[in-house]
Amino acid sequence: MPYRAPTHDIRFLLEQVAGFDRVRETGHYEDAGPDVTEAILEEAGKVCTEILAPLQRPGDTHPARLENGVVRTSPGYGDGFRAIADGGWVSLSADPEYGGMGLPIAIQTAVNDMMSGACLSLQLNPLLTQGQIEAIAAHASDEIKALYLPKLISGEWTGTMNLTEPQAGSDVGALTTKAVPDGDGAYRISGQKIYITWGDTDFAENVCHLVLARLPDAPKGTRGISLFLVPKRLPDEAGNAGVANGVSVVSLEEKLGLHGSPTCVMQYEDAKGWLVGPEQGGMAAMFTMMNNARLGVGAQGIGVAEAAWQQALSYGMDRKQGRAEGTGTIAEHPDVRRMLSLMKAEIRAARSIALMNAVALDMARATGDGGWRARAELLIPITKAYGTDTGIAVSDLGIQVHGGMGYVEETGASQFFRDVRVTAIYEGTNGIQAMDLVGRKMADNGEAALALIDEISAEAEAARAEMPELAEPVWHAAENLREGVEAMVALEGKDRLAGATPFLRAFARVLGGHCHLRAARAGGAHAALAQVFVSRLLPEHESLLAEAKEGAGTLYALSLDDLAA
Ligand SMILES: Cc1cc2nc3c(=O)[nH]c(=O)nc-3n(C[C@H](O)[C@H](O)[C@H](O)COP(=O)(O)OP(=O)(O)OC[C@H]3O[C@@H](n4cnc5c(N)ncnc54)[C@H](O)[C@@H]3O)c2cc1C
Repeated sequence: MPYRAPTHDIRFLLEQVAGFDRVRETGHYEDAGPDVTEAILEEAGKVCTEILAPLQRPGDTHPARLENGVVRTSPGYGDGFRAIADGGWVSLSADPEYGGMGLPIAIQTAVNDMMSGACLSLQLNPLLTQGQIEAIAAHASDEIKALYLPKLISGEWTGTMNLTEPQAGSDVGALTTKAVPDGDGAYRISGQKIYITWGDTDFAENVCHLVLARLPDAPKGTRGISLFLVPKRLPDEAGNAGVANGVSVVSLEEKLGLHGSPTCVMQYEDAKGWLVGPEQGGMAAMFTMMNNARLGVGAQGIGVAEAAWQQALSYGMDRKQGRAEGTGTIAEHPDVRRMLSLMKAEIRAARSIALMNAVALDMARATGDGGWRARAELLIPITKAYGTDTGIAVSDLGIQVHGGMGYVEETGASQFFRDVRVTAIYEGTNGIQAMDLVGRKMADNGEAALALIDEISAEAEAARAEMPELAEPVWHAAENLREGVEAMVALEGKDRLAGATPFLRAFARVLGGHCHLRAARAGGAHAALAQVFVSRLLPEHESLLAEAKEGAGTLYALSLDDLAA
């Protein structure tokens, strides 16, 4: 079944669950009224359903390839990208001064979700460009902004993010790419970067690389890193893409999925670049890009989960096996019904959390309020890890619903799984996200987490009389999580880090219950879906919290020799 953008569901969650009305009330965003929001989502949905979704299979069967040092993209990708760029979808939230629409990040997140469901490998391109736009807008000189932002926002030029080197993956501070001042206000960059997504393309005039590198005599580790903008072609005096810079694509990775997205090994040889942010302020500038990208990658997982679920539902409602009641299809069998229901319940929870996260970012931007900023920062690792885990879990179930037809390539069910698998790895592995949650994001002694839990408890309390079967378990789960936060804050070092992943997952379960309760209060079938989540998925938070509090002792009691024995 072809993918259909879930505009209706997203609008419902934005309005009824994520609290988008509060963003409107700030008056900060002129174009965020209900009619405009609806029109934008409908229009973006049309592009996804009609133009991008048909590119999903060709991207897989005709991968991007390298020909004489130039990337040749999958069939139709050039037209697909043009549709994204011409519609202004590359960066909806960018500053209107440079050609953006200045829309809330919540709308951008909704559009990212739909585009990822339609064609993840192509959507990665505008997602990285969005991050670059945000980093340049926040940290670059006025000259760089004036030259690059209009081209990136219009999609004439595209953007990449270059952190990883063979010896510097999660440990970004180990990077060795060098930058030397050229005496002319610019720098010369030399080194090799690996795994660079959309490191080149044949559908944009220029590709702009944000590259982390180290100046001579810079201190070791992340403190010594600076950020540079290095275009593939140097802008001429009129600001157009001119002569080639010292940047080349050495090879493309062969990988499990995402075949339409070229993953490049990049070589920089004396390439000319310009500093973004202060010298040795590279990580701070890069974090602007990474926060945006982490929310975007969470939305990627959710988008793919939606597409996998739509296809599984359609297959399940068509395939007949054994004696089943009603329609006589496998969707009537209790185990298949269980899978289809869990998939839908999980997607709703993850999507609601991502939209809540985006709303918190919009509120922080509109009000400058530190509480909203802390809320947004707290939610980023949860959105990223839970959104992508949901993509993997749901697309895995999607294969199971298809039976053998899920394992063969013909249906496309396995492509969702292969494509989405990497989302738990890039943009900081999900293990690193969990460490971020229990480390940096709870360095306030859990204050931001506890403030959110207070709200969850209060709302469950308020809903108790109306729908006790949902409100009671959510209230109890929130109180368990409160204890969990206090316990994590009390743990130190390895003991806290060993519990990071189960703790993040428990947090997501409780947030999911909270979001489903909010949706249920809107009436209709929402309450039945909430019941599925609350009775079948929410209870997992208890065992996850127990594991989180366990500390590292049991893990290290088993030595590496014991593991290898
Ligand atoms: C398809 C694809 C596209 C990518 N696109 C880009 C891109 O555009 N730009 C870019 O710069 N990079 C990109 N990457 C790189 C990606 O961000 C890294 O793969 C990722 O950061 C992990 O680094 P690594 O692969 O070296 O794994 P490692 O860092 O070696 O990690 C291996 C395992 O160890 C764990 N681990 C590592 N350190 C710690 C720690 N301190 N504590 C606990 N656990 C730890 C990890 O969680 C993981 O489970 C891409 C990768 C892929 C596969």
